[in-house]
Amino acid sequence: MTTTIPAISLDLKDLPKTMRAAIFTGGGKPLEIRDWPVPEPGPGEILVKVVACGLCHSDLHYLDHGVPTFKQPPLVLGHEVSGHVVRVGAGVDPKRLGTAVLLAPETTCGACILCRTGRENVCSDQKMLGNNIDGGFADYVVTTSRDAFPVPDGLPLVEMSVVSDALTTAFNAVVRRAQIQPGEVVAIVGCGGLGLSLVQVASMVGARVLAVDIDPKKLELALQFGASAAIDGRGDDAPKRIRKEAGGGGVEVAIEAIGRPETQETAVASLRTGARAIFLGSSAKPMTLQSGRVMYRELSVIGTLGSRPIDFPVVMDLVKRGKLDAAALVTHRHTLDQVNEGFDELRKGVGIRHVAVIAAE
Ligand SMILES: [Zn+2]
Ligand SMILES: [Zn+2]
Repeated sequence: MTTTIPAISLDLKDLPKTMRAAIFTGGGKPLEIRDWPVPEPGPGEILVKVVACGLCHSDLHYLDHGVPTFKQPPLVLGHEVSGHVVRVGAGVDPKRLGTAVLLAPETTCGACILCRTGRENVCSDQKMLGNNIDGGFADYVVTTSRDAFPVPDGLPLVEMSVVSDALTTAFNAVVRRAQIQPGEVVAIVGCGGLGLSLVQVASMVGARVLAVDIDPKKLELALQFGASAAIDGRGDDAPKRIRKEAGGGGVEVAIEAIGRPETQETAVASLRTGARAIFLGSSAKPMTLQSGRVMYRELSVIGTLGSRPIDFPVVMDLVKRGKLDAAALVTHRHTLDQVNEGFDELRKGVGIRHVAVIAAE
């Protein structure tokens, strides 16, 4: 016999049955703002009243580039979420009610070999908000309790939504995967929102950062975020310019943050002997990689995906202590009703990070 354990909420009578949400109905169509049922947290889950949800280039893959979502539309989009816990499912500590949380973009299973060895970011059963399950462009969202992290006092929730993906992803790439050391020379290839986060984190750990992009405005921003040099990424001779600026035969680390075969090849061609290339950008197209060069020069080619849950509190603490600047990344704020206009601006490359502010802090 199974018994149903009821969820506990902050104040049951205050929770509505329906909410406003931005619904993805299929590629090539704008999000529809409509009424949607407020979801119910199951065992181990929490219901979060959303304060902010970041607009991400990943969302544009579904909206514009024909990438299918794992859940068939209609689907609530959005995976960079901060808010307050308003209901807890069975088995979740009721003390979480009312607390401010930052959500990881993916839920984890907690049971697979990767979860159990601390690599939840590549969990074999992870579910991404706004992709496999309904996301955060809504008044409320459900996620697993273990994948929601307490936000320290004094950190604005709107700024935390850029921590949930951009800054934590950059932290995982720079600190965990590339293991960049103070004084190392690092090329960041692609200085969009994620690239600028990489510039910040690599500068924070003491690297000499060379920013590479084709857009002079982005290069200017990279210098403001701590890059030591800005390099024009246009043309076949970009790797030559990077190696010249690096000295010593090339960079010790190159991180590619675009996801194009040409720029991935630029990253590898910029390396000195013994160096490592980090692939953060994703491409379905193959690139050319000369294995003899990898072998004779002992190059390392390393992938990086998202970040480990254990690093969310670390990155929030770095923001709190002023080591990383989340506020400067949030250049545009939109209401839920304006989310399509926000995506239009993101498509045009306006600003750095755009955030939908759905409720007051
Ligand atoms: Zn994102
Ligand atoms: Zn797992």
